[in-house]
Amino acid sequence: MSDVSQILQSHRLDSSYTLRARWVFPVASPPVEGGVVTVNDGRIVAVGPHATEGQAVDLGDVAILPGLVNAHTHLEFSELEQPLGEPGMSFPRWIREVIGWRLRRDEEETQAPSRRRLAIKRGLEVSAAHGVAALGEIATPGWPEEPFLETSLDCTVFQELLGLAPERQPSLLQLAENHWAVAQRPDAQRRGGTWRAAFSPHAPYTAPLALVEQVAELSQRTGAPVAMHLAESWEELELLQSRSGPFAEFLAELSPVFPNLIPRGIRPQDYLERLARAARALVIHGNYLDEEEIAFLAEHAERMSVVYCPRTHAYFRHGRYPLEALLAQGVHVAIGTDSLASNPDLNLWNELRFIAQHYPSVAPETVLHLGTQAGAEALGIADEYGVLAVGRAAAFSFVPLEAHSADDPHELLFRSAAAESESV
Ligand SMILES: [Zn+2]
Repeated sequence: MSDVSQILQSHRLDSSYTLRARWVFPVASPPVEGGVVTVNDGRIVAVGPHATEGQAVDLGDVAILPGLVNAHTHLEFSELEQPLGEPGMSFPRWIREVIGWRLRRDEEETQAPSRRRLAIKRGLEVSAAHGVAALGEIATPGWPEEPFLETSLDCTVFQELLGLAPERQPSLLQLAENHWAVAQRPDAQRRGGTWRAAFSPHAPYTAPLALVEQVAELSQRTGAPVAMHLAESWEELELLQSRSGPFAEFLAELSPVFPNLIPRGIRPQDYLERLARAARALVIHGNYLDEEEIAFLAEHAERMSVVYCPRTHAYFRHGRYPLEALLAQGVHVAIGTDSLASNPDLNLWNELRFIAQHYPSVAPETVLHLGTQAGAEALGIADEYGVLAVGRAAAFSFVPLEAHSADDPHELLFRSAAAESESV
């Protein structure tokens, strides 16, 4: 158990308390040395250099940050000990691994539901232990609601919509409508956490343009966000461009009619234009966006985000992620772990450390912003999460700091090799 957990447990915090630490990073305002955060009834009531009144719980040589936001996960994979397949494998081959794994899981009919429930529960627990306060979860049909009602994490649950065949489209849209309706019923309010409905037409090779368009309309009507995997692999671009290559072969194996359901000569841009009609859209990965697509996303940065999943990206050995270009052009970028089927763990702080290490030209202040405020904005929950400010939810993460100082306190955050965040 870490020092912070021990200190917090020994104080048995009641509904009103003040935390003090060597540094407080509100994110939307400059870091405060020796700062304090005061909480009352689950809300932040003060952030600043001085304790308002009463005794502060001193956490010592740590940084207090907002709870982290993991903008993209698939927690049903959280039972995996290691990613599926092997590093650097082709994306269509990895998709085959995923389908095979799911079939094997679901063959054990009696065990499958509880396995899925336990995996999601475990994923939520592990996320919380690493300082994640809110996440965007992709949920496949039949997903268990229970773990999301029990957790203290804020969950945006994207109903996955998957099916190319025209005759599937009405039922997919109905699935999305039902998902929305379930989240509106009064008893969907939590015991611990909450979940809100969102929609995810899966990817260009599984969700036709017409479905994306209809889901974007539903999003506009309901205000619920839409997430879609897009421009993830060069094989996907090849499929869209010429209806050929490994993805076309893969689709043809599933059904000979499938490749022909993809219009020839389309691009991720065609999907972006439909997603832009949604109340809020998350483009998952965007590893191979071209210049025009990046410019389009920058133009729509208020409502559209790209979710970079650093270590999943590294697992597939894609070309270098255009993080600097996206940020320089003004694209709104959030960070996700993706799932344990392609990532070593669900520790969002490790994703941020990976960025700090591999993108030294990105300021550490920006890296912190990506994993907190930017994620909350992408999911549409920035009025509650992502920054430490009066009125926001009392959701924190803590990072142990090295003893010596730095010119920019943000550098301290990513310097310690042992840094790990945790939640309260
Ligand atoms: Zn994903």
